[in-house]
Amino acid sequence: MIWHTIRRGTGSHLNGPRPVVERDSILTRLSFSPASHDCYRERVHATVPDTQATADSPDSPINLASLGRVRVLRALTDRPALSRAELVQRTGLARATVGSVVDDLIAAGLVRKTTEPLAAGARTGRPPQLLSLEPLAGYAIGLDVGHDHVRAILTDLVGTTLWDESVALSVDGDPRTALDTAVQLIDRAVGETGAPRDRVLGLGLGIACPVDANGELYADGIMPGWVGVRPTDELTDRTGLAVRLVNDANAGVLAERRFGAARACTNIVYLRLSSGIGAGMVCDGRVLLGCGGFAGEIGHVTVEPHGDLCRCGNRGCLETVASPPALAGLLSRSWGRTVSTAELADLIRAGDRGALRAVEDAGDAVGRALAFTVMLLNPELIVVGGDLVIAGASLFEPMRRTLTRNSMSSHTRRLRIVSSTLGDSAGVRGAAALVLDGVPERLALEPPPAA
Ligand SMILES: [Zn+2]
Repeated sequence: MIWHTIRRGTGSHLNGPRPVVERDSILTRLSFSPASHDCYRERVHATVPDTQATADSPDSPINLASLGRVRVLRALTDRPALSRAELVQRTGLARATVGSVVDDLIAAGLVRKTTEPLAAGARTGRPPQLLSLEPLAGYAIGLDVGHDHVRAILTDLVGTTLWDESVALSVDGDPRTALDTAVQLIDRAVGETGAPRDRVLGLGLGIACPVDANGELYADGIMPGWVGVRPTDELTDRTGLAVRLVNDANAGVLAERRFGAARACTNIVYLRLSSGIGAGMVCDGRVLLGCGGFAGEIGHVTVEPHGDLCRCGNRGCLETVASPPALAGLLSRSWGRTVSTAELADLIRAGDRGALRAVEDAGDAVGRALAFTVMLLNPELIVVGGDLVIAGASLFEPMRRTLTRNSMSSHTRRLRIVSSTLGDSAGVRGAAALVLDGVPERLALEPPPAA
């Protein structure tokens, strides 16, 4: 791809003081409906870097021009292309105000005009003019720190992945190496794409560990080496980027909502079936975090009261019967030799009878756990991601059967259960989405170009 210099407004605010780590999650904003802008206002103040007060900051006089830019940029973040009439409808602003704001944003290089191809059969007339974000007006970095890898992507302003690389690594006991690797990947992403550093709007970090409401890791028993580690501080110090932190399952639901199978859905459960099992949930358009930020730990729901001890300290958790390491352990005991999770994947792909039986039993256990979730939350869509989805029908059929058997038909009649369309990219793309969702407030502060 050809990289070129991006037009910048004068005196860019993107070159501000050192970014401040945002410890308050912005998750609730990410799921808000375009038609209900006020839904996210209650949290927006806590989610924008201190160094960049927004137009609606309670400590700042309201700047209507900035507010208009926020609304227009928000509408164009939620929909890839809109006409001016649609912008008027979606922002609630006067037509003249939309026109003025759009002209300013085009002049600042943040919005561009596009045209919609004429529908088949339309032989005359001018194609309608649409407006969209200028993709190269800014960039986001997504970072996925799993138990066995560190992965980084760099995206443009509309979420297209421009750079993507993963390093296999044993992460749980060695945060130093993991963070060093992350910084190296970030430096390479910026260097190899040529993205201007001052146009990288932030870093989203998705991690395979519970994250509390203050953005602190709850690593005890999950990622033991990370107890007391503050990756947001570390990465901010070493990259100069504002860092947003999210649990990997919540990153998954954000990615599916923005890029994947759950677009246009407002009640979603994203279930991640990997060595860690967790759920990200969107209820009535808002990500459900719980009072401590720990909602969705479905992997530690007891499904076998007399089952194996779990790393969390409980017994018979879903993770002990339905995670790939648990299934590999079953085969290891049965066959009297060590079966790795990599070999398990190969066996599943090859249709090995024992491996598929283990997957079917796992699907049954997942269905039992999901039945509780469905009865409580009444979702319209369950998106299943993670390593185990390669098993396909061997996983999904028993899962659907047990879920249906253990739920009321009122809750399952319209429920869809689908495989993730993002595959193993969901976590890292959701981490980048954390940054991208802050784009309207961030870029609304871009000053108009010099006359
Ligand atoms: Zn557990």
